[in-house]
Amino acid sequence: MLIRADGAARGNPGPASAGAVLIDADQPGANDPAAPPVAVIAQPLGIRTNNYAEWTAVVLALERAAEMGAVEVELVLDSKLVVEQLMGRWRVKEPTLIRLHRQALSTLSRFTRWTARHEGRASNVAADALANLALDDPAAAGRAEAASGREVQALWSKGGSDPGTTDPEPEAWICATCGVQYPLSLEPPVACPICEDDRQYVGWDGQRWTTMAQLVAAGHRNHLTEEEPGLVSIGTEPTFAIGQRALLVRTPAGNVLWDCITLLDPATVARVRELGGIAAIAISHPHFYDAMTSWSAAFGDCPVFIHAADAEWVQYPGPGLRLWEGDSKEILPGVTLINTGGHFPGSTVLHWAGGAGGRGVLLTGDSITVVQDRHWVSFMYSFPNLIPLADAQVRRIVEVLRPFRYERIYSLWEGRVTSTDGPGALQRSAERYLSHR
Ligand SMILES: [Zn+2]
Ligand SMILES: [Zn+2]
Repeated sequence: MLIRADGAARGNPGPASAGAVLIDADQPGANDPAAPPVAVIAQPLGIRTNNYAEWTAVVLALERAAEMGAVEVELVLDSKLVVEQLMGRWRVKEPTLIRLHRQALSTLSRFTRWTARHEGRASNVAADALANLALDDPAAAGRAEAASGREVQALWSKGGSDPGTTDPEPEAWICATCGVQYPLSLEPPVACPICEDDRQYVGWDGQRWTTMAQLVAAGHRNHLTEEEPGLVSIGTEPTFAIGQRALLVRTPAGNVLWDCITLLDPATVARVRELGGIAAIAISHPHFYDAMTSWSAAFGDCPVFIHAADAEWVQYPGPGLRLWEGDSKEILPGVTLINTGGHFPGSTVLHWAGGAGGRGVLLTGDSITVVQDRHWVSFMYSFPNLIPLADAQVRRIVEVLRPFRYERIYSLWEGRVTSTDGPGALQRSAERYLSHR
């Protein structure tokens, strides 16, 4: 079933209504915005906000589709906000809308498959006309709901133009150079502080912004690869921004996502859910904050552990944000965060005692980077601008890691792994580094 739904409110709040067309997706031309529906929604809602009307239209249309025995549902909405909130990438904050959001998700769970996508208002003229019909002529709206097909179209096509208001759509803008996402706003932020810092750089064409929807539309997809039993890397193709991968550590007590990437699409959410979801996210440093709040939201607002020393770099705090302090913190049994400092004061690595068949692994982001000769690692204050790390900081990294047992070191790029004798590689590499200074 293809559903095109729309809400209208004349004033915000004001007299509001819900409209939707339910189209048999198997019929020829089902994707045509003017395709004849098998059922419609056209209901006045009293004095409500535009968002309330949008959400109610979705809920009513889904319930109707479920009643009619639909198995798969494709939602097409002209509200990007509602699409992103349905997909779990943006949060719903208002209590009334939270209720409608839950209701929509609960009805969606009755279908074997569903998707939601955004299209411009031009594709939603039918749903929009039905919403307006509900405001202008509730009796005719009632008749339309009872009718179907061409009969319905004849009813709404008499309706006039759309005097309803449309909220401007805020967007969670994403910096195209570092991949970090910012809180919802109508206009992109004026600058990306993470890229303006001397450890990063503003792109040669100046500050550019993108959105999650644009990344998906540009063909970016995530791929998941098992690195070793219990460790899955998640990377984006074609590569985006810095291009690091995230690592999913699977433990009996739950999965930890180490570091983050920007792209989060429904396919990724589904694959990660099959692997047991995410109990916690932990991030090495600000360059990899990426879309952490969207990832957390998609997995039940799971905690996002960031060292408090880097709190000032958090651009888009979500309800899951946990600032931790001190040298180390065990976030799940056998999964310990260690603050090494260096690249950033809060730079962190993750020690997983159960990795490498119980010999332990270290996940480092770029706090410690495995270099081309993978028996060696190195250290940088800035990678893109080639600014080395001060000697004392390199010594501190070695010292804080001394108590930990591990075999392998995984750093930020796929394939950049030191497979054996991680502590020896760290020690030798630090000595070599210091001897060249
Ligand atoms: Zn940036
Ligand atoms: Zn970095």
